[in-house]
Amino acid sequence: MGRFAPSPTGPLHAGSLLAALGSLLHARAQGGLWHLRIDDIDPPRAVQGSVAAIQASLEAHALRFDGDIQYQSDHSYRYAQALQRLEAQGDLFHCTCTRAMLGAAGNCQKSCAQKKFAASEATCLRVKVPLNTVITLEDAFLGPQNWHLGQQLSNFVVRRRDGLYAYQLAAAVDDAAPAATQVIRGRDLLDSTPRQIFLQRRLGLPSPEYGHLPVLTDQHGAKLSKQQGASAVNNHQPLHNLRTALKDLGQPDPPAKLKDPVSLLAWSQSKWDPLRVPR
Ligand SMILES: [Zn+2]
Repeated sequence: MGRFAPSPTGPLHAGSLLAALGSLLHARAQGGLWHLRIDDIDPPRAVQGSVAAIQASLEAHALRFDGDIQYQSDHSYRYAQALQRLEAQGDLFHCTCTRAMLGAAGNCQKSCAQKKFAASEATCLRVKVPLNTVITLEDAFLGPQNWHLGQQLSNFVVRRRDGLYAYQLAAAVDDAAPAATQVIRGRDLLDSTPRQIFLQRRLGLPSPEYGHLPVLTDQHGAKLSKQQGASAVNNHQPLHNLRTALKDLGQPDPPAKLKDPVSLLAWSQSKWDPLRVPR
């Protein structure tokens, strides 16, 4: 079971279309379902109308998801339970470090873990990563990956100072099987994967299969992103957009006689080959 999980921070652009298409084909080629999840746990960054715009683009490209749209904002109880469990295991500590005080990897290097803070004090919650933590992964496209996570960072944020749940925690919980059994997403998130697998382990949750797709860049080599103002995909040329995305995914070019997105996707699904995805 695959999923596409955009944040509601703008319309679908060429890079997010690529992630949607790759995750859909990978799921469908194995006979799996494909869900749409809106990662809306960061209300300050949300842009009104994004969900409708994303849905309209998916529909125009015949990228049809199964079931109802899921919203991370409906899952707060899960994240609260996860924090409770981590807390009970002694995995968490409060931190008040400012950005300038953090190490290069963004971890707390000071003695916050030993300090007591007043309940009224604004703190973030960090999870401790034991020094000997090693995470290994067989990426669906990149092959074997491994991280000496404990040597790279000694802790990371699971609840922000403003009280919001951190992306790493929400993704780790929602992407754990059986809710998701495949997480196919952009390579820009590869760095986050070991943190999420680490959290799943600490929470006793099964990790899904992970696969990281190529990331599209602009002419300056920067990742296409909504924050950088990447333009929305043109819903009036779905065939062109899908063919371009398939090429970026290293997949065979569908025959010219296929003139509608549904038959083009059906053909591409039957030909989907993870080994062709560019590394
Ligand atoms: Zn600190």
